[in-house]
Amino acid sequence: KLEYLNPGGSVKDRPAIQIINDAEESGKLKPGGTIVEATSGNTGMGLAIVAATRGYKCVFVMPDKMSDEKIKALRSVGARVVICPTNVAPEDPQSYYTVARKIADETPNAMLANQYFNPSNPKSHVLSTGPEIWEQTAGELDAIVISMGTGGTISGLGKYLKEKNPKLKVIGIDPVGSIYYDYFFTGKMVPAHSYKVEGFGEDFLPGTMNFDVVDDVVRVTDKECFVMTRRLAREEGLLCGGSSGAGVAGAIRWAERHGKGMNILTILCDSSSKYMGKIFDDTWMRENGFMQEELEAKISDLLGKRGQNLITATATESIRGIIGRM
Ligand code: PMP
Repeated sequence: KLEYLNPGGSVKDRPAIQIINDAEESGKLKPGGTIVEATSGNTGMGLAIVAATRGYKCVFVMPDKMSDEKIKALRSVGARVVICPTNVAPEDPQSYYTVARKIADETPNAMLANQYFNPSNPKSHVLSTGPEIWEQTAGELDAIVISMGTGGTISGLGKYLKEKNPKLKVIGIDPVGSIYYDYFFTGKMVPAHSYKVEGFGEDFLPGTMNFDVVDDVVRVTDKECFVMTRRLAREEGLLCGGSSGAGVAGAIRWAERHGKGMNILTILCDSSSKYMGKIFDDTWMRENGFMQEELEAKISDLLGKRGQNLITATATESIRGIIGRM
């Protein structure tokens, strides 16, 4: 399901409008009010678009590692962007979580969208994405494979679709480095480490993540995500981001073992436009070791044409060892 076709360019338009609808209904958000969120990405754009059309102000607090393009995109729809240092603990007064909460507390008629703990987030998928999927697949669906960030998408879809078809399998995708995979299989919180793919995987357990509806979790590497994202563009004309490549790569891997004859759905969560300087940049891919085979293949073509023997080496071998072999 191509969620990158939403107006804000991602699946996060769904929770954004639901969070605002529910806050209006409960009286938390009044006319002319301000929506505050600690976000670096897609949720911000979703909130900013709804805010622009309904006369609300938006303040987004984000860490300083974020690209200029993301900041400009949010400012282009009238949002205020506050930048905080990246390398501080979440409880530090300068952290973007703390600053967002402080701005929400101190601004009159302001609310914190709080996507990681706001039940409106999974609810949006129960009310809109789930019914759309059920209708568009005519109920002929055996499994869904979903990347897990806040967990809103998988928890909402899992709840709705399992009510429709109790046999439906729900599979989560987690990047190597995130805590979800270990937590699902062992119940333990193994410390997270950094990874390059964006938009999913967490280092804490959000209130919006409900593992009760999850049947299996597949772990994917950065390289697997990026290679598949590029293939989706080149072979299918689907211009999406890394978490979408993760969904397809994970779905194929799961299907190979368990999915014979099944109809399996995944979500392409956002579009390729934000990743031109990364996933779609050969230099960035090569520098990060995500395109090694392709590079070796090119060298081998080149040397092959000249009738020479090719000796290959891996990036971690010592120069002494390589010279010895040559
Ligand atoms: N992919 C992208 C690009 C996202 O922005 C998000 C949301 N963080 C996700 C996947 C995961 O969705 P969810 O937060 O609903 O788990």
